[in-house]
Amino acid sequence: TEFTSPPIDSLLLENIKLARFTKPTPVQKYSIPIVSSGRDLMACAQTGSGKTGGFLFPVLSESFKNGPSEIPEETNRFSRGKAYPTALVLAPTRELASQIYEESKKFIYRSWVKACVAYGGADIGTQIRNLQRGCDLLVATPGRLNDLLERGKISLRNIKYFVLDEADRMLDMGFENQIRYIVQECDMPPADQRQSLLFSATFPKEIQHLARDFLNDYIFLSV
Ligand code: AMP
Repeated sequence: TEFTSPPIDSLLLENIKLARFTKPTPVQKYSIPIVSSGRDLMACAQTGSGKTGGFLFPVLSESFKNGPSEIPEETNRFSRGKAYPTALVLAPTRELASQIYEESKKFIYRSWVKACVAYGGADIGTQIRNLQRGCDLLVATPGRLNDLLERGKISLRNIKYFVLDEADRMLDMGFENQIRYIVQECDMPPADQRQSLLFSATFPKEIQHLARDFLNDYIFLSV
């Protein structure tokens, strides 16, 4: 098997080759068709399984095809100079967020898509300046994202893809309320319906509840 069924955008395919990924890992093999078909996904997958490609490839492939989305008109609620990402990946730690961001840079190479990363413990001014240069794909930790939302530097009303990575660790770290707030922001009218992907190494009751609350008629994948 290769990265060809379902068809992946040709530029993305070239970038996947440049990264020397020759064959999809099991989680990629199953998640790519599910996400490409538009369905929500709850995937049980470990670190090292290739889950990052499992969500990045189908999301980027669709984004490359669709082209830049229009920035909605400013509303009075926000100041100017705000980013309107279309894809949001939430990760529990700064290390994981920067790993996902670095991985995404390989795959958006030569495309119109711009990626940004935002996590706590680093200078927020630098992150804001990066956001203002354009941000289609945002990788963030919940606390810093909420800070940026409160400062009016980001709007989530354009989000089409919402990814929650390592959801079990998120809950262990006490991020549940922050995540719920972020999901509410994604769902603020006139937001389009988001497609949501939840990745977790384990699937205890608390994660099942998150899946029930955040996902819509989802497919369950365990690899
Ligand atoms: P992840 O589980 O997404 O953190 O991926 C673990 C490691 O495997 C990372 O270093 C990836 O760059 C690498 N990787 C992921 N998918 C593939 C693939 N299909 N072929 C080769 N390496 C991969």
